[in-house]
Amino acid sequence: MQNRWNDQEAGTAPFDQLLYVSRLIGADPALVLWGGGNTSLKLLERDFRNRETAVLRVKGSGSDLKNVERKHFPGVRLDDALALFDREAMSDEEMVAYLEHTLMEPGSPRPSIETLLHAFVPDACVLHSHADAICALTNTARGIDPVREALGGRVAIVPYRRPGFALSREIGLARRDNPSIQGAVLMNHGLVTWADTAREAYDIHIDLVRTAEEYAAARARGRKSFAGAAPVSPVLTPAERERAAAAFAPVLRGLLGAEKRVVLRYDAGDDVLSFLSRPDARALSQRGPATPDHLLNTKRLPLFIDGADPRDLDALAARARTALDAYREAYRAYVARHNSAGYTPLEANPRVILVPGLGMFTAGSDARRARIAAEIYHHTIAIIEAAEAIGGYQTLSEADAFNAEYWPLELYKLSLLPPEQELARRVALITGGGSGIGRAIAERFAAAGAHVVVTDIDAEAAESVARGIRCAHGEERAIALRLDVTSEAEVEQTFARAALTYGGVDILVSNAGIAVAAPLHELSLAEWERSLAINATGHFLVARAAVRLMRAQGTGGSIIFNASKNVPAPGKDFGAYSAAKAAETQLARVLAIENGAAGIRVNVLHPDAVFRGSRLWSEEVRQQRARAHGIPVEQLEEFYRQRNLLGVSVTPELVAEAALFFASDRSAATTGATLAVDGGVREAFPR
Ligand code: ZN
Repeated sequence: MQNRWNDQEAGTAPFDQLLYVSRLIGADPALVLWGGGNTSLKLLERDFRNRETAVLRVKGSGSDLKNVERKHFPGVRLDDALALFDREAMSDEEMVAYLEHTLMEPGSPRPSIETLLHAFVPDACVLHSHADAICALTNTARGIDPVREALGGRVAIVPYRRPGFALSREIGLARRDNPSIQGAVLMNHGLVTWADTAREAYDIHIDLVRTAEEYAAARARGRKSFAGAAPVSPVLTPAERERAAAAFAPVLRGLLGAEKRVVLRYDAGDDVLSFLSRPDARALSQRGPATPDHLLNTKRLPLFIDGADPRDLDALAARARTALDAYREAYRAYVARHNSAGYTPLEANPRVILVPGLGMFTAGSDARRARIAAEIYHHTIAIIEAAEAIGGYQTLSEADAFNAEYWPLELYKLSLLPPEQELARRVALITGGGSGIGRAIAERFAAAGAHVVVTDIDAEAAESVARGIRCAHGEERAIALRLDVTSEAEVEQTFARAALTYGGVDILVSNAGIAVAAPLHELSLAEWERSLAINATGHFLVARAAVRLMRAQGTGGSIIFNASKNVPAPGKDFGAYSAAKAAETQLARVLAIENGAAGIRVNVLHPDAVFRGSRLWSEEVRQQRARAHGIPVEQLEEFYRQRNLLGVSVTPELVAEAALFFASDRSAATTGATLAVDGGVREAFPR
């Protein structure tokens, strides 16, 4: 653990230093992860009547230390908070309601649930983290002994309690009764330090963490290592492992998402593989979380799937099914044992799934949550291994874990989550997503909550679209892959990558296409074949891979083909294009017939003359189409607009709306259908 304090960056004003130290702690995942931990500062401010007031600036509930700003620190009037110190008890609800009256700015964020802990310690700056090294020290079979041995009398040692009034008061009393202590170690939870300045509180914090690390390292030396032991699962090459994981991910995603889809993330970090090769990995993984804060993202226990060679998909799938059934049953029994208050049970699904030889999958309602669970579990592994060296990993009791998971304040936070978007929990793969219609569909689906795999033969164009989506909707919401739809190998790799990144695919938009324009008597065989390869065979390859993956998931799916108004109403000089597009449309219908029973819907879009952002309408194609219609090229777009019944220009966004209809459950009873987005073309009416 490094002390990263830098006087220049810290500034001199106390509030600036609070922001600095908060971000410093937030930036180190070995101290806090994703919204964990909190910090505070006591200072004098002027209130709304210009009276000098002692104020506690404390991190608001729900903000993340690593990018915390001034506005994330609500001000609590210290006198009002301190008036509670002499009370014996206070419920969480009472405390939350009380604190609302103490705020300097009405409507500011709700102050941290640990606010009173910060208030009851008289020192100006208070820092709280869930440092890995402290979690290792406080989660062993040896109780408080390791803390005492490692940190001596420098800290108070507080038995595990759920945060709230009682814990705050206990720490306040410890500080009052023993002014020489520099902080408190909260068993099965974390570390609090305090001092007159942010710098001192930070120095103490880092020094205690480092001391704990050194203690664990000294205990680990000379212990039996598992490095030389015979592996408990077959050792796969990285390529074998990735292949097996890509095949298993959709199966697992389907099992987990039978009622409600999840997004999965695959992780084969060295620490994960090494942990899973321990003969006692299963037992260790079933002892519980290192700090209650973690379990909100990881659940109390991971699902452990062993006993099958990961390369044998059928055997692995069978083991996964049995293990998951047992997991759900055990979760329901755990809830039944502790749920005397009658809370509505949360979902009985694991968030962390461990497969020896293969690695770790993490699940969430979106990829961000899956990532948070993965990052936490990496630290859980480090904590487990350190705690094993110290005295055997042992964590908070099942009852305490239940009370953390079903803490009314956390349940209340869950109830505040906005309703899920239409395509939430879904993964859409789009070909030709780098421009035109494909791009508009990618952006529309992302805005509707989908995770998007943007593919295009132009890797840069795909990346630029994916980057835009990530900026607008979050870091985990899109990836870009180069894809030539005529290459069987590239198509397979693309779907494998989607499975490793998000666990699978729910929606395919087979959109990539090219225009080939020439009268048939002048058309070369090469041009004819090029059109068929991209405009027909490409759709076959992509759809085949999608159907295989969706069948493995077993949760249905939606496949959308972008064809053309040219299918019902072909134009002259567009033979190679129209014939291939007709093949595409017919391919969609047969796929609909073959996959209806699997819940996979297959529908077709027939847009016409979508110019904006299109690469299909190259200068050459424009010239050629203008010649075919006998008009000057600059009148081409106007010609198409005038030609349709509504007299409208067809935009990529309008096609994207139609695609969204097919992708979503709004069209749940529609398959094998075609929807025209052409402004109304009489020649394309069915006959
Ligand atoms: Zn905490």
